[in-house]
Amino acid sequence: MSLENDPFLNISYSIINPYIEDWQKSNRKVVGYYCTYIPEELLHAAELIPFRIRATGTKDTDLADIYMVRFTCSFVRATLDLALRGNYDFLDGFLVCNSCDHSRRMFELFNLKVFNRENFNKKVPQFYLALPHVITDEGFEWYKKEVEELKEELEKAYQIKEITNEMLLESINIYNENRKLLRNIHKLRVQEKPKLTGSEFLQINMANSSIPKDIANQELNRIISALKSRKAIDVSNKKRILLVGSIVDDIDFTQLIENSGAFIASDFLCFGTRNFNDDVQLVNYDDPLENITKRLYYRLSCPRMMDDHLRRLDFLKEEINRAKVDGVLLQRINNCDLHGCDNMLFTHELKELDIPVLNIDREFYQSDTTRLQTRIEAFIEMI
Ligand code: SF4
Repeated sequence: MSLENDPFLNISYSIINPYIEDWQKSNRKVVGYYCTYIPEELLHAAELIPFRIRATGTKDTDLADIYMVRFTCSFVRATLDLALRGNYDFLDGFLVCNSCDHSRRMFELFNLKVFNRENFNKKVPQFYLALPHVITDEGFEWYKKEVEELKEELEKAYQIKEITNEMLLESINIYNENRKLLRNIHKLRVQEKPKLTGSEFLQINMANSSIPKDIANQELNRIISALKSRKAIDVSNKKRILLVGSIVDDIDFTQLIENSGAFIASDFLCFGTRNFNDDVQLVNYDDPLENITKRLYYRLSCPRMMDDHLRRLDFLKEEINRAKVDGVLLQRINNCDLHGCDNMLFTHELKELDIPVLNIDREFYQSDTTRLQTRIEAFIEMI
């Protein structure tokens, strides 16, 4: 069975897609967001599609460079570039959390330069979530308050009488199911004879974040059945790699790796394991929003959480064993201080496992393909 022209995977090639167009035809709304730490279940309960902002396919950032200096993250600049060109005009709402300084800046820039540009006459409600950079009980209380305020703001902006506990519980079930399905697909990739490539897995995750979750669950179930009856992929001549670091939302990059003699057996990425590793635990049925917030805040963290590096390292070590990888590829987008620090520490810490590690810097778009390819091929050969 080929996934090559699968309509679900094809969603990953574009920003807008037919599912969103259908959704909006019946006057339902889509909210774009940066990036992790967004209570997606809350948006879903408000009958909104939470759409994770991507820059897939962008080849330069000429327009965005007018407003952001070139020593900011080229992923963020690429998303702004797309937005300035009108690719995000379909959004009916915009939500930013202070994941990193680069993406946080989008709150002002979208407000000033995207939603206020000439001939753009749509009113787009904007929301901001602040959360601490450390994991403490006080920090959780802070974040919980922020999420509660966001709930009120959503109700007001979209004239929803009330986002009830029942609505939240239903959304929790749908999202938990979604993460379970992604974990099942991940298992089919991690196994010794994998049923899909790392690039296909990335496409599935990107498509999953771009359409209504109820439909995504049906699609993931369909993909799982198809994969189960698919012949295993021959990776006997390839080195199994764990891919770690900054956002990857374009298969140009994963294909470059997989065409260099590697198979991406697992990852630690936001369009990957970081997203579906934990579920919402329903310990308090009277306050489902608290359960949603707990998962987000205490889950396997992104490097924006300054005091949680060791837990991330433990996850890496476990995943190295679970996926039986031959090497670890750490990558960060230039000027991404968060992944830069984590990767530098991982480089030293993984020495005790005696596993080959390559640590590279790159631009978001494939501007230096030959240099990257040479380094990755050399690494694979060295393994
Ligand atoms: S890659 Fe780094 S700098 Fe860029 S958005 Fe992600 S965390 Fe922020």
